[in-house]
Order: sequence, then C-alpha cells, then structure tokens
Amino acid sequence: MTKKLYDIDAYRSEFDATVISCISDISGNYSVVLDQTLFFPEEGGQTPDRGTLGTARVLDVQIDKTGIIKHFTDVPLEAGSTVHGIIDFHHRYSNMQNHTGEHIFSGFAHSRYGCTNVGFHLSDSIVTMDYDKQLTSDEITELETLTNEAIFKNIPVICEYPDAEKLETLDYRSKKELTGDVRIVTIPDVDVCACCAPHVRSTIEVGLLKVISSQNYKGGTRLSILCGERAYKNYSMIYEQIDRVNHLLSIKPEEVSDTVTRLLDERNSLLSQVKTLQEKILSQQVRTVDPDAENVVLFTEDAEPVVMRNTVNALTAAHPGYCGVFNGNDTDGYSFIIGSSKKDCREFLNSLRERVPIKGGGKPEMVQGSINIAALTIKNMF
Ligand SMILES: [Zn+2]
Repeated sequence: MTKKLYDIDAYRSEFDATVISCISDISGNYSVVLDQTLFFPEEGGQTPDRGTLGTARVLDVQIDKTGIIKHFTDVPLEAGSTVHGIIDFHHRYSNMQNHTGEHIFSGFAHSRYGCTNVGFHLSDSIVTMDYDKQLTSDEITELETLTNEAIFKNIPVICEYPDAEKLETLDYRSKKELTGDVRIVTIPDVDVCACCAPHVRSTIEVGLLKVISSQNYKGGTRLSILCGERAYKNYSMIYEQIDRVNHLLSIKPEEVSDTVTRLLDERNSLLSQVKTLQEKILSQQVRTVDPDAENVVLFTEDAEPVVMRNTVNALTAAHPGYCGVFNGNDTDGYSFIIGSSKKDCREFLNSLRERVPIKGGGKPEMVQGSINIAALTIKNMF
C-alpha cells in the first residue's frame, strides 16, 4: 500500500520517494509505484493531481483496490532510485477549495432537505453534484446562502481516521459503501462525511461558492458549482461582459435585464412592422401580374418565409400554373417557394434540376429551396 502523504499534509507540494517499480504499459507510457506519494489519485469523482517526478511528467494517477497508487509517466524511472516529486499545487488547491465547498453545500442539503449526494464530479472545468431529491430554485438559493455564511465563519475543517469504536457512534454521510479505515471530514455544525480527498484547513479558504446551473437529473437534481478562484474568475468574466453591455447601452448593472427585455420587445415590434411592409410591397407586385398568366414569378429582397408563403398562396388562388416567389439577389442567390393549385411542383423542381443546380424539395402543392443563378434566367424558366 502506498503511503499517502497528501493525507498527512494537504498543503505540501514537494516530496522525495523511492521508486518501487516502473513498467511500460500498452499506451507507451510508464506505470510507476512509489513507497509514498503526494499525488492524489483519481478517486471519489475527483480527477488526479498532476505534476512531475524527477524529469518525468505525471499524466495520470490511479489507485487500485489494494491501495497501491500508480503514477503514469511519459519517461521511465529507475526502480530503487530516489525521485523528487512536485505536484501542481495551484491545481491541487483549486480542487481543495471546490471539494470543501461541495461538502459544506451537501451538508446543508442533507440536514435541511434530507438530500443524499449520489454523484460528484470534480475536474478542471466543472464541478457537479447529483442529489436524489428535486430542489426548487428557492431551496438552492437558501442552501447557497447558508454555505457562504458558513464559509465566512472561518470554521475549521478536520480530517481524521477515528477508531472503530468512535466510528460506530458517528453519524456521517457516505456511511454505507466503506470498509477498512474510514477517513472522516468534519466541519463542526455543518457536515460530517467520509471522504478520501485533500481539503482546505478552514471554510474561509473556500472563498465563496456560487451555484451556476441546476437541472432535473434522474428524478433528482444536478447542480454545477464554482468555488474559490474559479468563482472569482467566473465573476470577473461575467462582470466584464456586463460592463461592456452597460457601456453600449449607458445603463447600470441592475438595469440590464429590464433594458434587454425592452430592447427585445422593440425589436419584435420592428420585425412585425418590416413583415407588414414586405407584405404590402409583394401584394402591390401581385396586383401588377397579368390576370390571365398561367405561371407567375415574383422577386423580392429580405422577405420573411411566412410572407413569401402567403404571397404564393395568394398567387395560386388566381393562377393555375406554377407560382414562385424568389427572395434574394443575383450575387448571393435566391431562396424560393413555388406553389401550384393544379400541378405537381415536385415535377417542376425536377425539370429545373435537369437544367441548373438547385437545392430543395417539398410536397406536390408547394416546394421550397435555394438556387444561385440570375433573376433573368429564373424568369425564363417559368
Ligand atoms: Zn469528499
């Protein structure tokens, strides 16, 4: 069993160890076992530490059922030699902040709403917790508030291996799955949970916790959170975005939602006016069409599909042949809708396809698509 130095001191970033074995594996990397290590392996939903062992880069760290930790490296290390290990402490500390934050939140979710944490994932880019109960947004906000209050209270985080007798009397989360020595992480008045991962010394080091998304998941709730530096970076990114919007619109941060709602309303109103104008322009064109014409083709620019469709319907009611509306210009090409009250538009589309490249399809009474030829050529095909 590899001695877990990270269990003794989560804040150490360098260590020396003896290489017990080093074997090459099928991926072309090397599996290195040491007598002791600071590298936390992938365990309990948390991704492993990264860093170096001598000149070797540590690409992955795994622990087997017997407690032997394997470091996967890009170059071999000599068995029997002493090696100096350095872990990426910035990465480790970020994991510590987020993992302790998760314990605080899950502790409150358990004590307030009886939620059991049935899934946890902590990687460089995302932290998610899955609970077995559905939480409302008000409940999530309440838990987030309680969590941050506990963070600011600077409560110690205690990691220890109680003896079997004490363990028996303890009420803690994750009780059932564990055998052998059980490591208990206690945050007084907040949470007691079995956990193998490195944690910060005090809740204050979590900095803050923000829930950034929630969704229903397998009958319960999946939450994404950010703690510590990750939460700060996310806040900075969001502030920068909001600040740009504020400058563009000359508003205050608290006015963003109302202002964007108003702008969207104005935009929808303008789009509606544009649609009305497009319909007017096309209906004027419809009035200039020879009433005895069998086939009709009209051209427009920037018309909405619904306007084109309405116009085609108006034309097919008065003309028995093929009636098309083409939207666009000679440079960028045209989108089109062609309809007919008596003929099969798909046959017409196929006959066009024999002469020019054309995309589209539809039903006998109406087809739509796009074409990239000049308006004059299109007129000659009707
Ligand atoms: Zn944990």
